[in-house]
Amino acid sequence: MRIGLHLPALAVLLTLLAAPVAHADWFQREEAIMGTRVAVELWADDPVLGERAMSTVIDEMRRTDELMSTYKPESQLSQLNERGFERPVVLDPGIIEVVERALEMSRISDGAFDVTYASVGYLYDYRAHRRPTDEQITAALPGVDYRQVEVDPGASTIRFLRKGVRIDLGGIAKGYAVDRAIEKLRALGIDHAMVNAGGDTRLLGDRRGKPWIVGVRDPRNEGRLVTRLPLEDEAISTSGDYERYFEEDGVRYHHILVPGTGRAAREVRSATVIGRDATLTDALSTTVFVLGVERGMELVARMAGVEAVIVDAEGRIYYSSGLEPPQ
Ligand code: ADP
Ligand code: MG
Repeated sequence: MRIGLHLPALAVLLTLLAAPVAHADWFQREEAIMGTRVAVELWADDPVLGERAMSTVIDEMRRTDELMSTYKPESQLSQLNERGFERPVVLDPGIIEVVERALEMSRISDGAFDVTYASVGYLYDYRAHRRPTDEQITAALPGVDYRQVEVDPGASTIRFLRKGVRIDLGGIAKGYAVDRAIEKLRALGIDHAMVNAGGDTRLLGDRRGKPWIVGVRDPRNEGRLVTRLPLEDEAISTSGDYERYFEEDGVRYHHILVPGTGRAAREVRSATVIGRDATLTDALSTTVFVLGVERGMELVARMAGVEAVIVDAEGRIYYSSGLEPPQ
């Protein structure tokens, strides 16, 4: 009887002693999602939580990609582009939220940021080195106008008020996915994390006693940094003319377009924005890229808690007033 009671207890004790001691540590993972590299680094109290937290981030990124990719014909966004002029299309609340934030950025930037750039943008194929003719651009340009996008948040629908309008969330969706991932981590009790998707990064807390250091790369030299920025609890995004482009007769045709002309923005090589969340910094870095140094810095100065680093077309570096240029 006594032995019968104590043997299982002994077995449990031995198992506990044999098991590796669960301990707090940094956990890291990298995956290719949304046509880019997604990286997660986080601190967790034990390996089970660490692995679970990283999988949660990756799952959330995949979900956003499934919803918002224009490369997937079955995605909700592709459905909207196909039918949005005929009637309001019912969409996931996530898409509604991203489009509303995009429209807000269009209004404050006077249309420099405009997700309907895609009405012309779809005619470019950077991988195939294909670009539209002047005639094709002229014919498609009337479709570039964010005011033609009507959102009904109550009904969770979007409708286009003009034929030929298309949208693409490439300038904001990665930031949104990063924000969602950070929210999920917070809900799991994670206090220190970095989530990065291509040019968009958000930091949760610090790096345990020191800031996270985020490098801004030299737009013409992948291995070199323009600067390093110490950050905590903030987001940072960079838009560059080196991400997707091809060259023809010495001209670089890249993926950030001026909505008014349907052609690549030429004023700068890269725009980096720091702010409170990655949906904002993603959209704003694309916006500042389009606006150029002077108008871009003006917009940044008007926005509370936002800073920027811009590399212009000649390679000169500009810092917003709240950033100390490194010595
Ligand atoms: P990435 O991290 O892919 O470089 P960016 O944040 O720099 O993304 O945004 C570039 C993407 O934004 C383009 O690939 C395109 O999908 C979209 N885009 C291009 N021009 C505009 C614009 N004027 N307004 C809004 N989105 C744009
Ligand atoms: Mg962006």
